[in-house]
Amino acid sequence: MLNYRDELDKMPSYDGVEKSYRIKVNANESTLNLPPLVAERVLNRLAMTAFNRYPNEEYYSLVEQIAKNFSVDSAQILLGGGSSEIIEKVFHAFGGAGRKVVYPQPSFSMYKIYAKAAEAEGVPFDLDERFDLDADAFIAKVKEVGASLAVVCNPNNPTGNALTPAQVEKIAASIDCAFLLDEAYVEFYGRSAVNLVAKYPNLLVARTFSKAYGMAGARVGYMIAQPDVTRMINKCFMPYHMNVLTLAAADIVYQMRDEFVPRLQMIISERKRMFKRLENLDGVEVFPSETNFVLIRLARAQELKDYLESLNIGVRYFSPSAFGLKNCLRISIGTRMENDAVFSAIRFFVEAGQ
Ligand SMILES: *Cc1c(COP(=O)(O)O)cnc(C)c1O
Repeated sequence: MLNYRDELDKMPSYDGVEKSYRIKVNANESTLNLPPLVAERVLNRLAMTAFNRYPNEEYYSLVEQIAKNFSVDSAQILLGGGSSEIIEKVFHAFGGAGRKVVYPQPSFSMYKIYAKAAEAEGVPFDLDERFDLDADAFIAKVKEVGASLAVVCNPNNPTGNALTPAQVEKIAASIDCAFLLDEAYVEFYGRSAVNLVAKYPNLLVARTFSKAYGMAGARVGYMIAQPDVTRMINKCFMPYHMNVLTLAAADIVYQMRDEFVPRLQMIISERKRMFKRLENLDGVEVFPSETNFVLIRLARAQELKDYLESLNIGVRYFSPSAFGLKNCLRISIGTRMENDAVFSAIRFFVEAGQ
């Protein structure tokens, strides 16, 4: 008899279906691989990598680069296998039986799972009908339940909207417990709260190379917090949890991050263009976005998802039970050609149904 740990069978799994599509706009990845110049430098670097050694130098080299960019001490940076690993460790560090973690809904579906994995109680806080977060009500909820961790994704996945830095600061200043800010999409928004870390010892900011830097396959993210916080969170990681291939590649990507600026601008302008076009379709509601995706709502969302799938276009559909996301589809922004193809298919579907 395989005697699994209690509750493991009831543990939900991440429900992202990862199939390949001709046009894959379901996972908020970068549609473009690394810029050729960056890819070439990454390959050269990998050729010089010491595969026989544990990755110490490579870890600290990337840490120092990131610290320098944000003008913080390198003791304030932790790296992770995607920001997912970091977020999971933060839940682990502040979780445990009898503890409460507050996070908005709808938001990143993994928060609920990490809370459960940390044996903490996940306490969802409802966004309003426009998916805006009422900061005062959120603060009140965190205090009311006596949470040990509050989590906010900014800009928010899957709704696309964002809190202003002032709202983020208000939350950081008003709650006593740890406040994890998940900035997975912040490069598409441009208003990070990293500068608040110096002022608020309870603030932890998680960032990733997966979205803006087209590195989802390499699994690399980082966290910025005060040194005492990173020292504690670091205890939750295995030694040498980052592999040398990822570190070496990320070191080059970070050095060459200016090479990504034109594509970030392209994604932002394409997002605006898609928003306007979708907004003009009858029966389609589109939500303002500060990310690399847009969320739409329409009566026949599931049928549209099936239709797009028949054209080999993959979008993100949410189970009807997902809070607030009934009849919603999330569509990542691709290249101009991809976006045109996706939009034409949606327009055809909507107009044919009237
Ligand atoms: C994509 C994403 C992440 C992180 O992904 P990693 O690939 O693990 O860095 C974290 N939070 C949100 C909300 C995301 O959408």
